[in-house]
Amino acid sequence: MAQDVRFDVLVIGSGASGLAAAVSAARSGARVALATKGSLQANNSSKAQGGIQASFGADDSPDRHAADVWASSHETADKALVEVLTGDARSAIHWLEELGVEFTHDEDGGYRLARCGGATAKRLLQVGDRTGHAITKQLREAWEAGSGTSFTNAPLRELQQVNGHWRARVGDHPVEAGTVVLAAGGRCYAEAERRGELSTNHPNATGEVTKLVLELGAESRDLDALQYHPNGGAWPPNMQGYSIPETTRAYGAVLLNADGEEFTDSLGPRDAVSQAIVDEVHAGRGVDTPDGRPAVYLDTTRISEADAEISLPYMLRRYRGAGIDPLREKILTYPVLHYQNGGLVIDTNAETTLEGVYACGEIAGGTHGRNRMMGNSLLECVVFGRRAGRAAAEKASA
Ligand SMILES: Cc1cc2nc3c(=O)[nH]c(=O)nc-3n(C[C@H](O)[C@H](O)[C@H](O)COP(=O)(O)OP(=O)(O)OC[C@H]3O[C@@H](n4cnc5c(N)ncnc54)[C@H](O)[C@@H]3O)c2cc1C
Repeated sequence: MAQDVRFDVLVIGSGASGLAAAVSAARSGARVALATKGSLQANNSSKAQGGIQASFGADDSPDRHAADVWASSHETADKALVEVLTGDARSAIHWLEELGVEFTHDEDGGYRLARCGGATAKRLLQVGDRTGHAITKQLREAWEAGSGTSFTNAPLRELQQVNGHWRARVGDHPVEAGTVVLAAGGRCYAEAERRGELSTNHPNATGEVTKLVLELGAESRDLDALQYHPNGGAWPPNMQGYSIPETTRAYGAVLLNADGEEFTDSLGPRDAVSQAIVDEVHAGRGVDTPDGRPAVYLDTTRISEADAEISLPYMLRRYRGAGIDPLREKILTYPVLHYQNGGLVIDTNAETTLEGVYACGEIAGGTHGRNRMMGNSLLECVVFGRRAGRAAAEKASA
């Protein structure tokens, strides 16, 4: 029989942001429940490959990182949130290391840093090309090692404020909590289905939690700004919708049209690169996949074997398993629906405009404005997940 249970903090979602919030709230002394739609492992965060940004380079700084975010967002981001994102980045990385995440290092002992699209410095830390998997695994282990309660296969169905507390129904469980952290991710899987397009996203990325709190009166921003990943796999069929890591371009791959010409800065901001590909195809200079889909070439043969082995082993394995060796032949690519840039309005402690309701990760808006840089989403999950967890625990105990 379903049991009525009371907690200090209820976290919704088990991606990087939800886990970071749950671990932080529990470590702040709160009684925490985490409810998620499927298993703890089912989320977009685990699929993230490329890496996470933090300004560790000798010529780099949080201010320079912030300036790149601001420029890539076309000056639409919330500057206060950007400052937090880039200012907390190094401590977020050290926190992950304390939890057991082992970032890839270079021979000189420093972090192996790559330059991502829109960045003016090498700033992307990686764990091979399974960075999201490594981060969520360690966060999950930290969460499961504590005394918090997990409700799996328990989608949030109802949320209402009753006598200063939040009453929720997650799956069949009624739950009460002093504060709530929403970390239910974006909606690009559902949106791609609606548009009849491919998406890189996990099937749980459907956006109903955002809808639910908008109905309660929460404010949102930039929800219409959806991001296409410039490099969706276009061929062979089992790689369609796969997000070819942006680190392919960081390590030397370039985009080519049907005539073998470079037609854009392959390390430009994401929206600019995606638009350049669409325009090139529209102008008749693209190539067709064998099943008649639009594409251009990504010349991955320019990546050195050594870089590929250290930083792209998963991508190589996936393509080679599908019968194509990206170090010997160019691969076919086309933009694919990937990320929800906007979301719920939050302050620097990740509190939404509903008091006692926090939001972190892809469900929140403002940090990236209308165009996110790669590697800043995992960072946002950890930075704002930690802040949300701490603040939610504090408010619940007040
Ligand atoms: C293929 C891919 C590669 C990527 N690569 C990178 C990268 O290299 N670097 C980077 O920074 N970013 C990358 N991203 C983006 C980044 O991974 C995500 O934006 C980020 O991890 C989102 O984390 P999150 O915690 O907000 O949401 P998610 O990880 O999507 O987690 C959302 C959670 O909420 C749960 N949920 C959903 N609805 C409900 C509900 N109704 N009730 C209860 N629970 C619910 C889901 O089941 C899931 O557990 C990538 C994304 C994808 C898809």
